[in-house]
Amino acid sequence: AKVGGRGSVQFFQPAMQAEAHARRELEDDLRPALGRGEFEVHYQPIRSLREDAFVVCEALVRWRHPRRGLVPPSDFIPIAEEIGLIHELGAWVLSTACRECALWPSNIGVAVNVSAVQFRHGDVLAQVTQALRTSGLAAARLEVEVTESALVDDVQATGSLLRLLRGAGVGVSLDDFGTGYSSLSYLRALPFSKVKIDRSFLDGAEVGNRAMLLLEGIARLSDALGMTVVVEGVETPEQLKLIASLGCIEQVQGFLFSRPMTADLIQAVLSPITPA
Ligand code: C2E
Ligand code: CA
Ligand code: CA
Ligand code: CA
Repeated sequence: AKVGGRGSVQFFQPAMQAEAHARRELEDDLRPALGRGEFEVHYQPIRSLREDAFVVCEALVRWRHPRRGLVPPSDFIPIAEEIGLIHELGAWVLSTACRECALWPSNIGVAVNVSAVQFRHGDVLAQVTQALRTSGLAAARLEVEVTESALVDDVQATGSLLRLLRGAGVGVSLDDFGTGYSSLSYLRALPFSKVKIDRSFLDGAEVGNRAMLLLEGIARLSDALGMTVVVEGVETPEQLKLIASLGCIEQVQGFLFSRPMTADLIQAVLSPITPA
């Protein structure tokens, strides 16, 4: 069959069809996955430089697919958003994370990612309240992470939601900071308690170079605005040294300290069994 006027169209079509097919298959599998208990939450600890200890763990969802194995969130969160499943899935992650955090030592909190779609059309406040109530977790141990893309439409509405969350005692973090369009205006307008500087700012950062000055500037600015500053994606001791030398970055997260772990493993790491 003749497809369009350009050879390239003909050439790419089978590949595009295969991709569309794979996606449809994943989508069909995704709908019943929650009911089948195929999702699990893994946790990556975040280290406080001041306390030299883990203080909070980020909840990162995975899909244990019966045939494909462990599927990363980048492969199914966008689909869940598109088909509207993200509201249910998000509520499940929130309640699971709060329940599991309640088993950890009481000085350790949990950070939960909330999708842009949930933020705009969902009832995040009610879900948070419900998760705290059923788990018995103290509100101060919960942080909600939102990316800049969650905020683009309506700064007014976002502001009131963030204030309600903070009023309830929950922390709110600006995730992937610096990757969006209006990063700085969000810092001014919205009551974040924490800023997570995207790991791209570590690329090529070395003492005194431009990348380092940019990282430093962003960190100082966030700190001066009263927010806790976190750098994500710390992978090497050299990066850690640079970060620590600035003095205003309070927390670090990355493979240097730990990969995300299953709930069982993180619990064992955080509450080692003490000999009787
Ligand atoms: P994110 O919120 O920025 O989460 C951090 C991601 O960076 C995680 O990937 C983590 O495994 C990875 N990471 C941590 N340390 C390092 C490092 O040192 N180097 C590198 N290269 N990567 C590191 P993951 O678990 O695949 O999650 C990817 C994204 O999926 C998350 O990015 C978040 O946007 C989204 N996500 C994960 N769980 C949820 C969830 O429950 N709900 C929603 N809405 N989104 C989620
Ligand atoms: Ca995050
Ligand atoms: Ca991030
Ligand atoms: Ca500070």
